[in-house]
Amino acid sequence: MSKTFAQLGVPESIVAALKERGITEPFEIQSATIADALAGRDVCGRAPTGSGKTLAFGVPLVVRVEVADPHKPRGLVLAPTRELAEQISKELRTFAGATRARIATAYGGVGYGPQLKALRRGVDILVACPGRLEDLIERRDVDLSEVNQVVLDEADRMADMGFMPAVRRLLDQTSDDRQTVLFSATLDGDVAKLTKQYQRNPVHHSVGNETPDISKAEHLFWNVPKDERMQTAADAVNAVSPAIIFCRTRRGSDRLAKQLERAGVDAAPIHGGRSQGQRSRALASFAKGKVQALVATDVAARGIHVDGVASVVHYDPPEDLKAYVHRSGRTARAGSGGVVVSLLQPDQVRDAKRIKKSLGITGDLTGPNPGLLTGHSEAKTASPRPRTEKPAPKPKSTGQKRDGSQKQRSRREQDSRQNDGRGSKRVPRGGRNNTSRRAS
Ligand code: ADP
Ligand code: MG
Repeated sequence: MSKTFAQLGVPESIVAALKERGITEPFEIQSATIADALAGRDVCGRAPTGSGKTLAFGVPLVVRVEVADPHKPRGLVLAPTRELAEQISKELRTFAGATRARIATAYGGVGYGPQLKALRRGVDILVACPGRLEDLIERRDVDLSEVNQVVLDEADRMADMGFMPAVRRLLDQTSDDRQTVLFSATLDGDVAKLTKQYQRNPVHHSVGNETPDISKAEHLFWNVPKDERMQTAADAVNAVSPAIIFCRTRRGSDRLAKQLERAGVDAAPIHGGRSQGQRSRALASFAKGKVQALVATDVAARGIHVDGVASVVHYDPPEDLKAYVHRSGRTARAGSGGVVVSLLQPDQVRDAKRIKKSLGITGDLTGPNPGLLTGHSEAKTASPRPRTEKPAPKPKSTGQKRDGSQKQRSRREQDSRQNDGRGSKRVPRGGRNNTSRRAS
């Protein structure tokens, strides 16, 4: 039997606060990491969305954090987006009252006023996006030298969005003997480097399957003559976007993105040959709905984590079965639908058939039929979730259908946010005795 929160070392007052929200048994990632984090160890955790990472790092953080002097937080949570930063501090506040830890958020796109006011009073745990935090440091409103607990949440997304240099600069300013806890949906590439350089003998915990579940997507295989391939891709994107289109080479992606633009599709290439800035701008435009299609190589796509991708197009065939699964896994994530289209030249049919068979995908190889996609009921309501620090502007209208469906989706998202049970009590500020709140 798995341990209870109390058995993992969580203080009674917090156990009670969680219980009030109906949280009585730890999720897997929480069982795996809370005791180590409470003991002060560095933790490197991989777990998919919705697995309960916030409490996994949040409970130990709130329990261990010490009382901060003005402008000098002791605990720091870095998150890629303002939405996530808000979500985290809201969730922490639901139980931080038990220890009277003071929590504040700092992100861009809003006035400095409230953030500064909190910092002047003293913030024990600062939940921040890297960009705004660097601004505040530059203005001398925040000093990180006393930060001895750091959490990097959704580290892979921070890497996608080009925040890694900022994250490193920020970590370099924190205390040398800090605890560093890192959570991410994937632990390769930039995230692996970060772990190596900034974590000290971390305990690794992974939960869930790293191979994406592609069974929720509809998989189509089209025989397309080479000279019709670009137009077919353009038609497919126009029928179902946002889309990610996979090419074999960097040059191929650049070329196709240009051709698509000429054919009236808003497309941006994303690959290792582009600068971090170009990549994060392309991703941000895509997340905002300004770009309908990302044209990506496999390597670049590995780090892309945008929800709400409605279709994946294999423009060039995948290297192998595994690549097919990883590419296709960019759509139909987190319960929403999606469509995957393979555009096949005659000499690629054999491999495609083998992939189909291995994955148990039924349905015939047919000629191209983008018209069919327009009726794709799930995918057409998808819109990528904004992942930028700034508020996402209204997506550019690209026709009645897309526009109307965007509205539907955002209403649904709002509803689910309001009903997610994260209603919070605010932490009383001030009037506390000046003792450390270490776990007892
Ligand atoms: P992640 O960060 O891994 O995507 P979250 O931390 O946001 O996931 O958790 C997802 C949802 O599950 C949240 O609404 C959270 O309140 C809820 N939750 C977390 N842990 C538990 C638990 N042990 N029991 C019940 N609900 C939980
Ligand atoms: Mg999370």
